[in-house]
Amino acid sequence: MTKILPKATTLVSVSTRAFVAVILLALIPSSLICVSAQRKERSAPTKPAAVRPDAADQQARQRADALLAQMTLAEKIGQLNQLFFFGFQREESMNEGIRKGEIGSLLFITDPATINRFQKVAVTQSRLKIPLIFGFDVIHGFHTIFPVPIAMAASWDPRMVEGAQTVAAREARAAGINWTFAPMVDIARDPRWGRMVEGAGEDPYLGAAMSRAHVRGFQGDHIGSPEHLLACVKHFAGYGAAEGGRDYDAANISDAQLWNVYLPPFKAAVDAGAGSVMSAYMDLNDVPATGNRWLLRDVLRKEWKFRGFVVSDANAVSDLKTHGFARDPQDAAVKALRAGVNLEMSFSDAVYFKNLANAVQQKQVSIKEIDDLVRPLLETKIKLGLFENPYADEAKVKSTFVNPAHREAAKTAATRAAVLLKNQNNLLPLSKTAYKKIAVIGPLGNSRQNMLGSWSFAMDINETSTMLAGLKTKLGTGTAVEFAPGVQISRVVPSVFDMMLKEKHPPAWTDVQAADEFKKAVNLAKDSDLAVMVLGENQDMSGEQASRPTIDLPGRQLELLQAVMAAGKPVVLVLFNGRPLDITWAEQNVPAILEAWYPGTEAGNAIADLLFGDAVPGGKLPFTWVRSAGQVPFYYSHNLTQNPGEQDKRYWSGNAVPLYPFGYGLSYTTFAVSNLKVSQPEIRIGDTVEITVAVQNTGTRAGDEVVQLYIHQQAGGASRPIRELKGFERVALAAGETKTVRFNLGPNELRYWNAAARDWVQDAENFDVWVGNDSTASLHSTFRVTQ
Ligand code: BGC
Repeated sequence: MTKILPKATTLVSVSTRAFVAVILLALIPSSLICVSAQRKERSAPTKPAAVRPDAADQQARQRADALLAQMTLAEKIGQLNQLFFFGFQREESMNEGIRKGEIGSLLFITDPATINRFQKVAVTQSRLKIPLIFGFDVIHGFHTIFPVPIAMAASWDPRMVEGAQTVAAREARAAGINWTFAPMVDIARDPRWGRMVEGAGEDPYLGAAMSRAHVRGFQGDHIGSPEHLLACVKHFAGYGAAEGGRDYDAANISDAQLWNVYLPPFKAAVDAGAGSVMSAYMDLNDVPATGNRWLLRDVLRKEWKFRGFVVSDANAVSDLKTHGFARDPQDAAVKALRAGVNLEMSFSDAVYFKNLANAVQQKQVSIKEIDDLVRPLLETKIKLGLFENPYADEAKVKSTFVNPAHREAAKTAATRAAVLLKNQNNLLPLSKTAYKKIAVIGPLGNSRQNMLGSWSFAMDINETSTMLAGLKTKLGTGTAVEFAPGVQISRVVPSVFDMMLKEKHPPAWTDVQAADEFKKAVNLAKDSDLAVMVLGENQDMSGEQASRPTIDLPGRQLELLQAVMAAGKPVVLVLFNGRPLDITWAEQNVPAILEAWYPGTEAGNAIADLLFGDAVPGGKLPFTWVRSAGQVPFYYSHNLTQNPGEQDKRYWSGNAVPLYPFGYGLSYTTFAVSNLKVSQPEIRIGDTVEITVAVQNTGTRAGDEVVQLYIHQQAGGASRPIRELKGFERVALAAGETKTVRFNLGPNELRYWNAAARDWVQDAENFDVWVGNDSTASLHSTFRVTQ
């Protein structure tokens, strides 16, 4: 076992306290946004640290230090204060705070005129004229909505993802936003957790590739690239492992899992230059992430050399008290500061703002500690060019939004993200002329909002293409396309985000209406030549505060599907959702199933393209599709244990294998992967082996295949997963075409964190390698690593 990286420090443990975050959007009194810091003090600039910085970094540091030298303590504390602004607050009370230098950043404003008004107060009326930085959750588009992140991951196409986020950045920047709270790179192995939709799924390798792509798309090649945003990788770290999938609940993650599974996508974002990091809400192994000095200082700054700033998740600093970690708000502020949280995001409590002056006065924290928090924030504002260009160009906003290339990019993204789960007897693609009448049935069939996904606020909802509209546009007047919702679906506990929906939920039906609508839908199916069932989850059923204990199709959707199937017509099931759902019955009975995710603005048009063969599905699942919530957590890269040949018999009731494996997805054509070659049978630790494989399109139409490479280390200093993804490439192939795909396996792919050694190690051992088109790939070879 060879150690190849410096040792990391041990995780500290204190007591566990789950917490419930409540967003009191409507209750924020405007008085809370202009409380004065209590003491004003001047401090000397600190010496620049001896680090690598290139010219831009060095310049930013000098300017930041020059500013710091002029700032009062109150002004410094103001820079650490970020507040939400929703339309209903009074602008003047916010202006008062900005004028006094008590606010460093605002979030959640999407109107460029409002942004400019606030910015004008900051840069013309505050003493030091320090611009505000405006943040927003630009997660999967801004005006043009792209597929949700889990869908982007399903494309297995980092280039597409980078392009999509470049568009999102351009639109948001045009509106005056400088900073996005994305990407979310939390590994999610429990689909009960609603926020699975916001990340790249279960796998650290795919997660890291997506993480880099998002960061590059948002930021461009450096912080301050024109038409780009500052990225913020979140939620650091372990949020996806919330116990029971209950949003915000504690995460208990072993050391090995943390390093090998949960941290790599964060490290990838930092290495790609992400300028900011958001600390998570929950306790990580009993220490709240937002007060976790080991995580935010030892790992992030010392080991990973992160040089940007950390923002807390909303109210997460004041919540340190809720966790039973801080005694009172001042203690919470001190603990977050000590941990390394630079900027406090808050709805109302503004714990830094209200307590840090006292903490300095009482010598609990030093001016140097405050300066060290402020400096990266100032440096970032400088690098973003906010001092020179603080305003949005309001005249340009509209033309940026209506760029047809943006719609086209959104449509391409939606088609590349979709995953074909089943296609019995090649029912798909459908003929454009064979059906005289098509029924569109299901609660999502004519919905605009539910095509978009959870972080879509700044779009024009009227631009969204529904499934019904998409099919009508595709088929023109030659085919009748009729719609019946059949059932309604809704949450039991309302979502706090519903107040921001642009298209409100329809009023609930009475029992009589419900029975009538159900019948109407079945009759429509009977009356049609084909039914497209449009089922899944409303967008508010997936996302933040959208966890659930089962993964059933909500409401009476399964019953509706069964009744429509009984009508005896061909049925295609299109799913809109952000997590695997229990579609076991559908898998057994419905001939064609297409996973569409929440595809965004171009939803209906993109899915119609796929259904009628104007686009070919090529996406692959970024998670193991379980049969029921009872199987979770379930991930393909588990360790081999007792009786591995009986993995399918782990439950006496059967069903111990997933419905679809990780990496799975069909096409309208077929592919063969062959000729697996390993460049050398043996390499030395630290060296690289090249794996090549041929992939051929063996069908009669063009299509994409995602060639995936998995490894298994046969023995060593720890049990290693049965398979781990270590390479992939989405390859476009014309009918009959063959291409060679190359992968390299070197120290980055072959090392792992060994919990016993508390270190990164690479073992001299035998390795299996498989290449194919999902995680059950059978084309196999081996190689050996020696000392
Ligand atoms: C979420 C973050 C988000 C922030 C600001 C929080 O509730 O956890 O992901 O960036 O709100 O909207």
